Amino acid sequence: MRLSGIKLAGFKSFVDPTHLPLPSNLTGVVGPNGCGKSNVIDAVRWVLGETSMKNLRSADAEDVIFNGSKTRKPVGRASVELIFDNSDGQIAGPFAAYAEISVRRELMRDGNSQYYLNSRKCLKRDVTDLFLGTGLGGKNQYAIIEQGMVSRMIEAKPEELRQWLEEAAGISKYKDRRRETESRIKQTRENLARLNDLRSEIQ
Ligand code: ATP
Repeated sequence: MRLSGIKLAGFKSFVDPTHLPLPSNLTGVVGPNGCGKSNVIDAVRWVLGETSMKNLRSADAEDVIFNGSKTRKPVGRASVELIFDNSDGQIAGPFAAYAEISVRRELMRDGNSQYYLNSRKCLKRDVTDLFLGTGLGGKNQYAIIEQGMVSRMIEAKPEELRQWLEEAAGISKYKDRRRETESRIKQTRENLARLNDLRSEIQ
């Protein structure tokens, strides 16, 4: 699986629709200070469901929408699309048959947000599920290696290191599902207990 292109519109400094093709395995982004190089990485994180404002270098969720400049008015919508070449079939499940997978996220200034997989509306959960275990999944994603991350990994506590290893081994997806199922079982047990209480009150 390889990221083969990024399309941005209204995201941070990328106000006009911009297509960044990534045709080879190695691409360098160069430009003067403040021209938007890091915004490209923020865009990748954002589409994949990043919620930490710190990681997105933003003050709040709507801050990723182009908020105007000396010559341009703010816009009302940010959209970023990642295009993945999946000809190696690394992304399994219902999308395994697709040689190209696109993931898009849109955010309106009123706070409405929508995700799309191959142009079909989907939930954020569908996007995170798809990438868990590929190195791009969840909070232990290691596909984006930012400044200071290598030393953070070296100095990580065993539990934290284990979480990275689990993502690399592709098992974080199953642990995630187990956590979710356990929480549903707990909720169901509580509902049953409540139901039994009500029943004994009525009898
Ligand atoms: P450096 O080389 O100094 O690290 P860079 O090329 O990585 O810089 P970025 O940090 O990606 O630059 O981009 C910073 C620019 O993005 C600033 O000019 C900032 O005003 C602009 N910017 C960030 N968020 C928004 C936004 N919501 N609307 C408009 N412009 C924005």
